Amino acid sequence: MSLLYEGKAKRIFTTEEENVLKVEYKDEVTAGNGAKKDHLPGKGRLNNLITSKIFEYLNDQGLKSHFIERISETEQIVEQVEIIPLEVVVRNIAAGSITKRLGFEKGHKFNEPLVEFFYKNDDLNDPLITDAHIKVLEIADDKDIEALQSAALEINNHLQQLMSKMDLRLVDFKIEFGRTKYGNLILADEISPDTCRIWAQDSDENFDKDVYREDRGSIIDVYQSFLNKLEDIK
Ligand code: UDP
Repeated sequence: MSLLYEGKAKRIFTTEEENVLKVEYKDEVTAGNGAKKDHLPGKGRLNNLITSKIFEYLNDQGLKSHFIERISETEQIVEQVEIIPLEVVVRNIAAGSITKRLGFEKGHKFNEPLVEFFYKNDDLNDPLITDAHIKVLEIADDKDIEALQSAALEINNHLQQLMSKMDLRLVDFKIEFGRTKYGNLILADEISPDTCRIWAQDSDENFDKDVYREDRGSIIDVYQSFLNKLEDIK
């Protein structure tokens, strides 16, 4: 197996099988495009266990992703895809960047879920982009943009149902998609408290990375309690 790519929180390896990769989750946490970073033993395990469970749940709901199987506490096997350089964000409740950009009060509930696209580009600080920008950047055409939007909303429905079974609220989340060798668009990357905002049902207690972003305690404890809730679902 050889290292194909190393990112902030994961390492990607080739495997003996063509088009199959191994993802290793690292014990690193970053925020603000790497401006804040820390080594947190146990974090890779939590993200791997949580992401694997969520991808399995989505798969059970008929929603395919790149996920194949979890092979250890910190590793999973995935289908090789070419990642589309877009962060697709879905918001149910205002928090984070949209409160600063558009002046929504934190906690404002949107009448319907909002889908936003950010251009995955560290040098440019991942700017918010429009459909027109996506087309001139030749990232995707109208048909693919439409497909990404509707897949994101469908994933939102499933994740909202999952969180409500856990007595939690899904505030917002970021997903990424990739193209398979057959040209299909599928859900990829990860879904975890690193990439979602999750609040308690009756308060704005966080079960997500805001605890780290805002120096409000141990994300290891918070992510472990999220995992416990996920494992307790009937
Ligand atoms: N998000 C992410 N990776 C990023 C940026 C955002 O996973 O590089 C997630 C973030 O955790 C939140 C959602 O996308 O659940 C919306 O983030 P927002 O645009 O509010 O930006 P932030 O406040 O995180 O800077």
